[in-house]
Amino acid sequence: MNIKYLVRKNIQEMQPYSSARDEFKGEASVYLDANENPYNAPYNRYPDPLQWKVKEKISEIKGVTPECIFLGVGSDEPIDLMIRVFCEPHVDNIVLPDPTYGMYHVAAEVNAVEYRCVEPDENFDIQADKILKACDDHTKLIFLCSPNNPTGNSLNRDEVIKVIENFPGIVVLDEAYIDFSSQESLTKKLSDYPNPVILQTFSKAWGMAAVRLGMAFAAKEIIAVLNKIKYPYNINMLTQEYVLKALDKHQDVKKRVKELLAEREKLAADLSLLKCVTKVYPSDANFILVKTVDADNIYRYLLNRGIVVRNRNNAALCSDCLRITVGTAAENKILIEALKNYPG
Ligand SMILES: *Cc1c(COP(=O)(O)O)cnc(C)c1O
Repeated sequence: MNIKYLVRKNIQEMQPYSSARDEFKGEASVYLDANENPYNAPYNRYPDPLQWKVKEKISEIKGVTPECIFLGVGSDEPIDLMIRVFCEPHVDNIVLPDPTYGMYHVAAEVNAVEYRCVEPDENFDIQADKILKACDDHTKLIFLCSPNNPTGNSLNRDEVIKVIENFPGIVVLDEAYIDFSSQESLTKKLSDYPNPVILQTFSKAWGMAAVRLGMAFAAKEIIAVLNKIKYPYNINMLTQEYVLKALDKHQDVKKRVKELLAEREKLAADLSLLKCVTKVYPSDANFILVKTVDADNIYRYLLNRGIVVRNRNNAALCSDCLRITVGTAAENKILIEALKNYPG
């Protein structure tokens, strides 16, 4: 597989913007190259456009070389860039299971790219053959999310591998919730294949949603094209500094994840005893999907008590389902008490 032939022609042929900081790397004593203000150091200077310090630290933790890492403003940025790099508007398409994370089809629609939904099985798991059958010559990307949002299940690893091995395009595997999963990240196998792009984020297990930092791991040829078309200074210096410090304390993340997983099990057990809950779906993430007797009504009932959950009643195969994030023990208790008192 040669990635070059999958990239849109205009993107293959364009010259990327070359910033002052791209052309000069290293240490100098006088910087008069970027029309920066000499005052207000260090924030007067443009940040490192390729965030090498941050990538080197991520590399140590994830075991992926820095050249195979892209950093974006949340996962939203690589999701959008992937579609813009590989999909010709009004011509190409993407394939994805439904229900899944909403940003894939939104990014497709913004870019005038057709999206094709494939129904999963009754456990919300994928079948590789069914997904591959939905593809044609214009399918450039398949989006898979594991653990999946909003259903919480991890996808069958053998089926994911089968898609990666048999699809002659790119497979974007969104691992936003991988730190909560009993499955290993596929980053360990990244170098075995030319075509997966694995997405992770600082928004969930790292507890840094406000910071807006997402990661993509892929073959360096794919990362190079993402870098070619991104905004030159997409990750600001405040973010890079903050994340560098957080990466030094990555053991704390493991501890917090462990606590949340214990809470998840308790919450699942408590939910399953409620009269208004008819099914608690197994979760490999930091949220739980539940089927209820009346999702719209329970959603409004909880809102009136100052409790917000996610109403997924209108998502495919999710009628009367609510998606509940695992909170602190105290927050979960407030939710359970409210639901115990639900009349109906
Ligand atoms: C929350 C979430 C993300 C994170 O998006 P960011 O832009 O990094 O905050 C990515 N993918 C899925 C499936 C999610 O649920």
